[in-house]
Amino acid sequence: MKARQTLPRCGAKRRSDGGACAAIAMSNGRCYLHGGSTPSGKDWHRTQLKNRSKSTKKLDRKLKDLARRRAKQAARVAAMTPEERARYDAWHAARKPGGPEVRRVAAETREFRDMLAERANATPVETAVAKAIREAIEALERRAARLKPPKAGPDAEDVFS
Ligand SMILES: [Zn+2]
Repeated sequence: MKARQTLPRCGAKRRSDGGACAAIAMSNGRCYLHGGSTPSGKDWHRTQLKNRSKSTKKLDRKLKDLARRRAKQAARVAAMTPEERARYDAWHAARKPGGPEVRRVAAETREFRDMLAERANATPVETAVAKAIREAIEALERRAARLKPPKAGPDAEDVFS
């Protein structure tokens, strides 16, 4: 048996038939396509730029590629129909980078915000004191309406001048 045949194989799901990828695996148990340089956890979905301080040809190319990819993405998003855009936003809202902890906090924040909005929209419950005050105000307003307004004249105008 050749040494190559004894190497560990990638266990990622193959898109074509759902079987295992079976390409030669790296130390993380996945092949270079399935477990490559895209990080998991807190750096998931974040472009990795190693050693930014040292500008190299490789880094420059990566930045250029990144700018081109972002422009293409922005154009694609701008051309979306409202339904497509809503679906896109929902997908991205559910998959923010930053790791499980950050996503959990974000989800709790959203939940709390929704709860506050719901509470703000709900009809307020009137307390006994509030009811008494409201009734007193209404009674005074009725009384004020019954009273005749002062006659408008030169004297009345003087008060406000
Ligand atoms: Zn693979």
